[in-house]
Amino acid sequence: MGIKLLVIGGVAGGATAAARARRLDEQAEIILFERGEHISFANCGLPYYIGEVIKDRNDLLVTTAKKLGERYNIDVRIFTEVVAIDPIKKQIQAKNLKTGETYYESYDKVILAPGAEPVRPSLDGVDLDTIFNLRNIPDSDRIKAYVDEKKPGLAIVVGGGYIGLEMAENLVDRGVKTIILEMLDQVMAPLDYEMAAIVHAYLRRKGLQLELENSAKSFSKKGNRTIVSTSKGFDIECDMVVLSIGIKPENKLAKEAGLKVGERGGIKVDATMRTSDPDIFAVGDAVEIRDFVSGQPTSTALAGPANKQGRIAADNALGRRSLFKGTLGTAIVKIFSMTVASTGASEKLLKRSNIPYTVSYTHSGSHASYYPGAELIAMKLIFSPGSGKVLGAQIVGKGGVDKRIDVLATAIRGSMTVYDLEELELAYAPPYSSAKDPVNIAGFVASNILKGDVENIYWNELGDLTANDITFIDLRNRDEIEKAGMIEGALHIPLNELRNKLPQLDKGKRYIAYCAVGQRAYMGHRILVQNGFRSANLSGGYRTYIGAKEKIMKESPETRIWLSE
Ligand SMILES: Cc1cc2nc3c(=O)[nH]c(=O)nc-3n(C[C@H](O)[C@H](O)[C@H](O)COP(=O)(O)OP(=O)(O)OC[C@H]3O[C@@H](n4cnc5c(N)ncnc54)[C@H](O)[C@@H]3O)c2cc1C
Repeated sequence: MGIKLLVIGGVAGGATAAARARRLDEQAEIILFERGEHISFANCGLPYYIGEVIKDRNDLLVTTAKKLGERYNIDVRIFTEVVAIDPIKKQIQAKNLKTGETYYESYDKVILAPGAEPVRPSLDGVDLDTIFNLRNIPDSDRIKAYVDEKKPGLAIVVGGGYIGLEMAENLVDRGVKTIILEMLDQVMAPLDYEMAAIVHAYLRRKGLQLELENSAKSFSKKGNRTIVSTSKGFDIECDMVVLSIGIKPENKLAKEAGLKVGERGGIKVDATMRTSDPDIFAVGDAVEIRDFVSGQPTSTALAGPANKQGRIAADNALGRRSLFKGTLGTAIVKIFSMTVASTGASEKLLKRSNIPYTVSYTHSGSHASYYPGAELIAMKLIFSPGSGKVLGAQIVGKGGVDKRIDVLATAIRGSMTVYDLEELELAYAPPYSSAKDPVNIAGFVASNILKGDVENIYWNELGDLTANDITFIDLRNRDEIEKAGMIEGALHIPLNELRNKLPQLDKGKRYIAYCAVGQRAYMGHRILVQNGFRSANLSGGYRTYIGAKEKIMKESPETRIWLSE
């Protein structure tokens, strides 16, 4: 008889662990416990089922208990909750949720993959039947049935994380007017503010109402409508609410079994996914892992890490050594036709962790501009000021965001530098990219900064300056300014005229050159410094500046003199 392995939780991490264990060991006795009806279902597809992009509910079922059992010779017990683990006796207690029967099962090894549950705040009215959460298939059935039958006119999505945004998109696609209520000053917390600001503008353009720095305080009913009272003091009357304000690791079993749990509630594991008990492993949304860049404890709610950890835990449980070296939190979300992605550390995380960093912004075409359909990609690259090691990236755009974020995620994993990004040989033909891919361009710009070829000033440094300190030079053409506006008080000198107009400039002043995205400003900056002027380049150009303007105004109202209203 082989080893007896119990797997608790049958979706991303658990099902992967059980299948991997079987592939490694034909003799093992493997029992998979799942509290719900479904194993290995596509949580990530749920918003799209509600939005009817995925039309057939069966498509959400990646496999069934029967199929997994047959193919892998796994004893799959659905509707069965593990209610206790006794590490001394090396047994678990399980409860059949259909019959109420409880029983014990001994083990050699356990892999815990219980996931995380949506946070449901203890607010008045939170249990009303018009307030929904989305974690599993029954949740999505409830939301879909409500939208199908009640035809709500207005929904409020509380929380602007990726699930909230996906829900908002799918509700809008179903014809439901939607308001996003977000406690922070931005959606998509892994992004830095100025990148999220691009998303804010887009969401508003798509007709969504964005209520930032506002949260739900309580819920009540008025006839058949739902009232959401907000922290800003006003009420919103709507027809349904989707709560997506975050998740918390399901750690009850682990805690009661005496396993160590981190400050954020994640089950503590080492790189082999072993918990504080040598025979119990844990994976997925329930665990606390190492952030690859900062080295600090973190947790993710992402399917990729959960699957990989399931595989690694199975390896180690069955005596093979393999390691999970940390997470980059690489994430991507579709919002209508926009794609938003991030990997590695954000600027705010590095600031909090006191890790030195430098930032560059680039705006490049998704493919050659002369081939139809090229779209602009806004990229923020975060790198070490000493070595140039890539620490993080954030990308917002329409086409080609996915492959660039994956290249950059790979670069971070490979400890590559911005100089390596310059050299990457990436696939090019006009429909796909340019001879200089946006990733190469980000590398060029970042290495220009490190080599001192350009002195950058960033949107969030402008608040410390006054009109007496600096003069902006806008290097764009007149028609661009007419369309997009300019920074108040800036001198307008199109780049091609700059050399001729140098005699009109003052060597005692400090100039900040800017254009739309930074490329012409870099040229202008080089002309200025090589002619003895003090100059800096507004990183990311007018586009980054204008997106972040709201924030600049808020941080530094006294500097409004040189900001256009
Ligand atoms: C709506 C939605 C959209 C998402 N979209 C994406 C996406 O686009 N990309 C991405 O990377 N990630 C996405 N995720 C997150 C991703 O699904 C999770 O990170 C991943 O499923 C975590 O895997 P897990 O195995 O840790 O937990 P889960 O997949 O949540 O599985 C845990 C299972 O354990 C069961 N369980 C818990 N306790 C017990 C117990 N005591 N006994 C028996 N069974 C138990 C639960 O019933 C549950 O089915 C999404 C999640 C949701 C909800």
